[in-house]
Amino acid sequence: MGRLVMKFGGTSVADIDKIRNVARHVKREVDAGHEVAVVVSAMAGKTNELVAWCAQAAGDAPGHNSASYDPKEYDAVVASGEQVTSGLLAITLQAMGLRARSWQGWQIPIRTSDAHGSARILEIDGDGLISRFQDHKEVAVIAGFPGIEPAGGRISTLGRGGSDTSAVAIAAAVKADRCDIYTDVDGVYTCDPRVVPRARRLDRIAFEDMLELASQGAKVLQVRSVELGMAYRMPIFVRSSFDRPEDIDPAATPPGTLICAEEEIMESHVVTGIAFSRDEAQISVRHVEDRPGIAAAIFGPLAEANINVDMIVQNVSEDGRTTDLTFTVPAADHARAKATISTAKDHIGYARLDTATDVSKISVIGSGMRSHAGVAAMAFRALAERDINIRAITTSEIKFSLLIDSAYTELAVRILHTLYGLDQV
Ligand code: ADP
Ligand code: ASP
Ligand code: MG
Repeated sequence: MGRLVMKFGGTSVADIDKIRNVARHVKREVDAGHEVAVVVSAMAGKTNELVAWCAQAAGDAPGHNSASYDPKEYDAVVASGEQVTSGLLAITLQAMGLRARSWQGWQIPIRTSDAHGSARILEIDGDGLISRFQDHKEVAVIAGFPGIEPAGGRISTLGRGGSDTSAVAIAAAVKADRCDIYTDVDGVYTCDPRVVPRARRLDRIAFEDMLELASQGAKVLQVRSVELGMAYRMPIFVRSSFDRPEDIDPAATPPGTLICAEEEIMESHVVTGIAFSRDEAQISVRHVEDRPGIAAAIFGPLAEANINVDMIVQNVSEDGRTTDLTFTVPAADHARAKATISTAKDHIGYARLDTATDVSKISVIGSGMRSHAGVAAMAFRALAERDINIRAITTSEIKFSLLIDSAYTELAVRILHTLYGLDQV
């Protein structure tokens, strides 16, 4: 007998039939003798609808990026999607003859920071859930995504995609043997299979590589869930919720990807996978005097405005005397970053400010890069041969990222996928 956390994403609970399919998966594990906590997302599209309603209620213009309304009320609204699915799944399980009850974040409680809209979990008391497994033989159906901010007693949410993080945190709190993430793909692939049809499913991936893939745009798992998995050494298994529960052989390992410690991986590849993100904006501050303190003058105000700067490139301006500083920020912060730099114009002293939002960041990831030289150089050559211009580059120990025109995103990703031998054969 084991203890499992099973997490089901939005497409897996999109309607009552799908919820019934989820319930059959849960019953399969209960029948196999496991103690089960289930974590559910809102129905597919629900959270987007709730976010849009908040903006409408506040009178924000469509497409307006930074919310002008109270983030505590945003959380109160968006948390409702998961409340609905947790209750519906509990009802469905009960109708199948299982003991089950729903749990909201505030009831467990899942205590979080006060960063409404992107709160971090501080503490979960798993003892209550554990004793209910033992004394009541009851499936805990937990609403993923929301928690409670203890000082204010207000509902908080963990950021988009946050129910993955709820699941891994619950798994750690109840000392589960494994956290299964059921989603609309049957595992983690070398790249998003919707964009690269030849992407290969990975049987295993190290926490470090998964962390980079997730933080560079592969939305199959929220970054924070991988961080927690790594911190608590919680094995995470990504698998499909669309398999029929009746077809699953309990004795066999189902298709999926295990996210685990690097030592548990036998195969070694230099490149593990490729991620991309279209949510980038490029800002170039042109003709800046090349003097000490200039970077502080530009990046200080951005840091104070809480804007995350990612790639930074400094090069000589066209006039050969001054310098240009180019950097990227999340697309959602584009307007704020532009305004922040404009406000500091006199202090910085620049001639022109150019910005672009039609850019994408492509990241090539692999812990094997630690011990291999020249991996990035291959990419520069391959993209140059196809006339794809690289606007900025950053490298770290186990990844490098390239900023390119977003029109070439798919093409560049596929070229690199083939180049590094990741294509399915
Ligand atoms: P859920 O609603 O179950 O949380 P998400 O939409 O958040 O599902 O995440 C699953 C999606 O992640 C897939 O449909 C896939 O398009 C996308 N994805 C991006 N990168 C990858 C990758 N490397 N491997 C698998 N899926 C990926
Ligand atoms: N429903 C939330 C979202 O769409 C949380 C999640 O699905 O993980 O972001
Ligand atoms: Mg998700």
